[in-house]
Amino acid sequence: MPWFWCLEHKRVEEDAGCGSTSRIGPASSPAQAATAMERVRRREEQQQARDAEDERQHGRRREWF
Ligand SMILES: [Zn+2]
Repeated sequence: MPWFWCLEHKRVEEDAGCGSTSRIGPASSPAQAATAMERVRRREEQQQARDAEDERQHGRRREWF
């Protein structure tokens, strides 16, 4: 049974849930769904930290093209 974190209602919802498109998932357990938002946020922080480190090392954001 997949679980979702609903951004609209800020709660864990079952597969059917409220039908909102603002949901993160699926997760395999309610506990996982509840921490999904936290994990997304942490990933973004890590990415930002990497970007900042790149800027420090290269004086600017890395350009690939
Ligand atoms: Zn909802």
